[in-house]
Amino acid sequence: MGIRSPRKAPFHSKRTFPMRLVTYQSKNGPRAAAVASVASGRDDYAAESYVDLAEADSGLPSSLKEIVALGGDGLRRAAAALAAGKPFDATGVQSLAPIPDPQKVIGVGLNYADHAAETGAEVGDEPIIFAKFPNTVRGDGDPISLPKISQKVDYEAELVVIIGSGGRHIPRETALDHVAGYACGHDVSARDWQLGKPGGQWLLGKTFDSFAPYGPHLVTGDEVGDPGRLDIKLRLNGQTMQDSNTKQLIFSVDFLVSYLSRILTLLPGDIIFTGTPPGVGVARKPQVFMKPGDTVEVEIENIGILANPIVAES
Ligand code: MN
Repeated sequence: MGIRSPRKAPFHSKRTFPMRLVTYQSKNGPRAAAVASVASGRDDYAAESYVDLAEADSGLPSSLKEIVALGGDGLRRAAAALAAGKPFDATGVQSLAPIPDPQKVIGVGLNYADHAAETGAEVGDEPIIFAKFPNTVRGDGDPISLPKISQKVDYEAELVVIIGSGGRHIPRETALDHVAGYACGHDVSARDWQLGKPGGQWLLGKTFDSFAPYGPHLVTGDEVGDPGRLDIKLRLNGQTMQDSNTKQLIFSVDFLVSYLSRILTLLPGDIIFTGTPPGVGVARKPQVFMKPGDTVEVEIENIGILANPIVAES
């Protein structure tokens, strides 16, 4: 055996388990599955059939968070279960957010070079980090509720990173080994709270219930490829409002995972919203905010489409 050369970021190169993993609502509660086939002729990767992972491999946990906690071994076993298991028809099956109950939902502000230019903001040496509480998490198709106490709810398309095996002080060189996969995310933002309150209340503006839908699947790094070369788009009622590429990311995925792990312990299933490209409603003239009856779609290359209806708070 020769000497192995060290792996270089940002590629997921050690393992090859291209998969789409989901959490679906079964009779007995949420369970992890892998997408066995997607509907033909559709470019949104809509699932046609699933393999229930713990049913195919009784040694696997039934929760996706516990499977991704096993790191590369969890993905290897999930891939084997997908290959061996019996698919069932996913028509009409409700899918939830891939990890419906992350301990942490972390956001990154102003992380696209083209968006920073749009806002005229200075780009610093370190990222702007904020948090959303887990009450914000929703899945594909779930409604986004417009709060009664905001008149300026804006959209933001984002690449979401889902942590597999966690850790503290993770070196950048091995950071992507701690990433289970990626999803489309929507960092819903009440601008009148985020920007208009004393001190700038980023937390309050971004943590209203239902303000962090993501999905439709957890797509593994081996399926996605380089997370720094993906087209990302947002459509509001079918009209393209954001259209960029993750090559515009100022702070890359491997950097963010390493950087955050210097501050806190990243846990399996934690999710990171990596920032939004230009075209947000607050920066337009005239400004555009979401209203009941709207539909927002976030599309990311190799990942799929996340679609959510906008409703008034009931
Ligand atoms: Mn954002």
